Amino acid sequence: MADRILTGIKPTGQLTLGNYIGVLKRLPQMIDRGECIFFIADLHALTLPIDPQVLRQNTIDLASFYLAAGLDPERVTLFLQSSVSEHAELNAIMQNYLYMGELSRMTQFKDKSAGKEGVSSALLTYPPLMAADILLYNTDVVPVGEDQRQHLELTRDLAERFNNKYNDIFKIPEISLPKAGARIMSLQEPTKKMS
Ligand code: AMP
Repeated sequence: MADRILTGIKPTGQLTLGNYIGVLKRLPQMIDRGECIFFIADLHALTLPIDPQVLRQNTIDLASFYLAAGLDPERVTLFLQSSVSEHAELNAIMQNYLYMGELSRMTQFKDKSAGKEGVSSALLTYPPLMAADILLYNTDVVPVGEDQRQHLELTRDLAERFNNKYNDIFKIPEISLPKAGARIMSLQEPTKKMS
């Protein structure tokens, strides 16, 4: 059977070269490899403060980028994360099987919360929502950049933890990283990831 391939991008602003090289450029090549499900991760975009009008415009822009990248909606499933309520529902369940220690050790959480006051709890609980996004669809392969490797490993651990408790419910997804450009660095601060 063909692979089921799933990934999402947050509509948080201008797409970067990192997004393009890390994932977007590779997506059209995936169409011949399996069933492609690509989404706009607007629920994830709410983890940091964002103006609703800006979020709406970014969402439209990102949909345009998906189409401009050559993703034919006749051959690929493209959708908005918040329009499928099961993402939020499975997230609520998955939160019960992750530990605070695991979540607070995530590099992305540490980077994005460092030095900030009033960090949202959703920034901490980003991984169970990402796990829900992936596990909902019995995903085989998740094309992402290197920055998402840790979250994907946690998704795999979580799925195995759940399967051990309740029989084999979830498929264990594989990560797909680009051969080159898995971590494009910032042009202003070359020690940091471009974002
Ligand atoms: P995001 O913008 O965080 O929603 O990320 C969307 C996709 O782009 C994910 O697969 C990320 O792993 C990838 N990505 C984001 N920034 C970079 C970067 N600097 N280098 C490589 N891939 C990236």
